[in-house]
Amino acid sequence: MHDVIIIGAGPAGLSAAFWCDQLGLDTLVLEQAEQIGGQLRRVYNPIENYLGLKAANGQELLAHFSAGVAGASFDLWTGVQFSVIDLKTRRISLRSGEHLQAISLVIATGVRRRRLGVAGENEFAGKGIIESATRDRDLFAGKDVCVVGGGDAAAENALLLSEVCPTVTLVHRGKRLRARRELFERLQTNHCVTVFTESVLTRIIGGAEVEAVEVLRNEGLKPFQIAVRGVLIRIGVEPNTELFRGQLQHDEKNYISVNSQQETSAPFVFAIGDVSNPLAPTISGATGAAATAAKIIAARLNTKIHS
Ligand code: NDP
Repeated sequence: MHDVIIIGAGPAGLSAAFWCDQLGLDTLVLEQAEQIGGQLRRVYNPIENYLGLKAANGQELLAHFSAGVAGASFDLWTGVQFSVIDLKTRRISLRSGEHLQAISLVIATGVRRRRLGVAGENEFAGKGIIESATRDRDLFAGKDVCVVGGGDAAAENALLLSEVCPTVTLVHRGKRLRARRELFERLQTNHCVTVFTESVLTRIIGGAEVEAVEVLRNEGLKPFQIAVRGVLIRIGVEPNTELFRGQLQHDEKNYISVNSQQETSAPFVFAIGDVSNPLAPTISGATGAAATAAKIIAARLNTKIHS
């Protein structure tokens, strides 16, 4: 029986582990991926708004976090395959056969990028699907590209690609882009960028690499093709909550509902970081929520021991 089991080792999970350890709790962190860091491993832009630490990218901030927990005594397992997580009993069964239990669970499973689900999206990974404009811009310099989405991420990536690509076609399903005003205005005056609103990308086409996309503008009309060599998809994120479905209260988009102490609807189960923060997902928010959860858990355990 552990005091705390933390599920997820991104900024939220690592910070919670750090705090729980500092507070003397017997802590185990379980991470599904082979490496820790969560979304930090996919941030290629500089991180400049985490007070006290600037980093060239997510990996660099992760290196700071890893150094910060280097001397801590919590256990951390990566590559964990979950079989069942029962929030009522706080028992966890792993596919490897182990059974674990904790007095308190902390869910820090984060979010993942939403996928379009169109033909070609998987097949052309690494063959024309652009993971990040910052990381991949040299690879796509001089090539025509397409960006899908209408939020800040799509707009920002389209603008970055327009610095090196002759044409950037931005395809957005809605009537209006949702990107913030500054990005929207820059897109409007950028001669390399063509914006197709009320349009959906229906297929990514090619041979060994991406050669074109198929776009449907206005229902009823025939789809048409645009020749491009790269496609970048930024259509938002969704929470990693499949393991807990039916056991917790959540919002209409499956983000876990928590109170101001990061408690979920299940007793002794907490949720921290982006998985429970649809409105303002930030690294600072995640680490702050982690500290709150750890302090509340420690206080509850103390009360339990002394009562
Ligand atoms: P958003 O949720 O802000 O926007 C997602 C966009 O994708 C929406 O326009 C949505 O369309 C569209 N979309 C959703 N699902 C589909 C689908 N199935 N098919 C086609 N289009 C779809 O996500 P972002 O990824 O842009 O940003 C995520 C978060 O990161 C936001 O909080 C954002 O502000 C932040 N961010 C901030 C940046 C910055 O400040 N520099 C840069 C990048 C991101 P619709 O409008 O029709 O719903």
